[in-house]
Amino acid sequence: MLQASGVREVFLTPSQKKSSPKSAEEKNALLKLRETVLRCTKCEELAATRKTVVFGSGNPEAKLLFVGEAPGAEEDRQGLPFVGAAGQLLTKMIEAIGYKREEVFIANVLKCRPPGNRTPKPLEIENCSPYLVQLISLIRPKLICALGTFAAQTLLKTGVPISSLRGRTHTYEGIPVICTFHPAYLLRNPPEKRKAWEDLKKVKAILETDG
Ligand code: URA
Repeated sequence: MLQASGVREVFLTPSQKKSSPKSAEEKNALLKLRETVLRCTKCEELAATRKTVVFGSGNPEAKLLFVGEAPGAEEDRQGLPFVGAAGQLLTKMIEAIGYKREEVFIANVLKCRPPGNRTPKPLEIENCSPYLVQLISLIRPKLICALGTFAAQTLLKTGVPISSLRGRTHTYEGIPVICTFHPAYLLRNPPEKRKAWEDLKKVKAILETDG
């Protein structure tokens, strides 16, 4: 049960922690945020149709935070982000730049699955965004990688398509943001993986700079 709800992945051994150490207070705040999110009923429809709330998982001290759109059916079932087919590709993308999935943190803009995987509604984004804002301020990653149009546009508060957002470094509250294609899109459009690889190389280069 604890494993299914992501607790095991939120707390990792010291050897798995790669970035700046967090105080006990900050870790407590992350746990508290998680508890709040798991109880959230702000979106009536989502709260009534979800099986689980997908808070996000990974290393609370991660240098790299991936942000996707919203849980799909498998994520909703397991309570963990990116565990379906797109998630398997995301794991390969992370490993391709020399990291382990447990070293990074993975979250979504929406914590609940929209029924039938429909597009999130503006009010749902408004309701759920403060949780992502708090998560980012607690993790303070060195870099955010936005996966797909929806995450990129939400984080950067823009309507510009992902094809124009990728290829440059943006910032969110002083944190560099690289936008790339969503792994589900890459599964449908394999030739685009070449461009995603360019984005990932940029991610790796920024993570490897000092500071
Ligand atoms: N797609 C997303 O955007 N997030 C997930 O967690 C799974 C699929």
